[in-house]
Amino acid sequence: MSKGKVLLVLYQGGEHARQEKKLLGCAENELGIRKFVEDNGYELVTTSNKDPEPNSVLDKELADAEIVITTPFFPGYITKTRIAKAPKLKIAITAGVGSDHVDLNAANERKITVAEVTGSNVQSVAEHVLMTMLVLVRNFVPGHQQAISGQWDIAGAAKQEFDMEDKVFSTVGAGRIGYRVLERLIAFNPKKLYYYDYQDLPVEAVQKLNEVSKILNGRDNIVERVESLEEMVSKSDVVTINCPLHEKSKGLFNKELISKMKKGSYLVNTARGAICVAEDVAAALESGHLAGYGGDVWNQQPAPADHPWRSMTNPYGYGNAMTPHVSGTSLDAQARYSEGVKNILKEYFSGRENYRPQDVIVIDGDYATKSYGQRNLIA
Ligand code: NAD
Repeated sequence: MSKGKVLLVLYQGGEHARQEKKLLGCAENELGIRKFVEDNGYELVTTSNKDPEPNSVLDKELADAEIVITTPFFPGYITKTRIAKAPKLKIAITAGVGSDHVDLNAANERKITVAEVTGSNVQSVAEHVLMTMLVLVRNFVPGHQQAISGQWDIAGAAKQEFDMEDKVFSTVGAGRIGYRVLERLIAFNPKKLYYYDYQDLPVEAVQKLNEVSKILNGRDNIVERVESLEEMVSKSDVVTINCPLHEKSKGLFNKELISKMKKGSYLVNTARGAICVAEDVAAALESGHLAGYGGDVWNQQPAPADHPWRSMTNPYGYGNAMTPHVSGTSLDAQARYSEGVKNILKEYFSGRENYRPQDVIVIDGDYATKSYGQRNLIA
């Protein structure tokens, strides 16, 4: 007789899982937690069948689960209706960062804890942001396509190829990822780094960036916080989104805001797809108002085969730097978030529930973080 059920929702690894045991985030390898869960007297049920609600294996198994664990890469959406049908559910754990796939307000109403492995893949995502900026600004994809298809058309690739140096970059959200992006951008000698956030960066963090920029590039006071998002995007060559998805950020980049962006600028979003209005982004790219859009997050995951972001391009046929949701799931990141999930489970199983404070998103019916919107907060 088990103490309770742990439900794990992960993507299928298939032949890749057989080839690479470090792919801990797939259903076959189960984050490496099966023995640990069973040694603690709990039953572990793993599934990849998560849609559609209410006819999936996830729906069936959640009905008597105490713990649900899923990843943002292949999210088991823990909706209000699913929560209502899961009377035993006590904690939802995100193997990764970003818990918007759980209806956080519904979790609060039921006093379900939502925890994630904060910081576990922030370096991975920051690197992907930099890579995506480079891919777009340097117009990598058309050049690569020429290389592998036997062509040699320099003008064709160079007609929309620029340098990162001397450009204005900005981030919406300057938390763990946003800050790391700013930090890494200094190496490219940018003209200016702006950030828009309702929380100030620590003074020392800004000082550090300004000092490094002064030493490396001879430019002082490179970092500036702005109050107006519209003003910031109107001055930027490249905008990157690094804030969580919540009520205030959903649909933030719609046609009105995108129309304020500089003509020919780039937008990079590895935060969450639904922060942008999919059709408005596609229209702005297709008209050439945006020169490029890239990222790895989609408003529905897996994205349908006909999602506009799969095929959208600018008028030259360039400017699409989309990937599936892979930025935060490098093998290094998988090791970190699997370990982090185990640590959260350890606290839960022991009854101490003494989680790392930064891992707790909601607990005891309230938000425990300042990152998911401006609310009355516990701390
Ligand atoms: P964080 O909590 O350290 O930082 C988030 C920052 O965003 C905070 O400073 C917060 O104040 C700010 N913010 C919130 N709402 C905002 C808004 N409307 N406008 C401006 N700023 C706002 O989080 P993090 O670790 O930097 O991660 C940020 C997000 O990135 C996650 O919530 C997740 O959605 C996404 N993410 C994606 C991947 C991936 O694989 N693509 C991996 C990790 C995280």
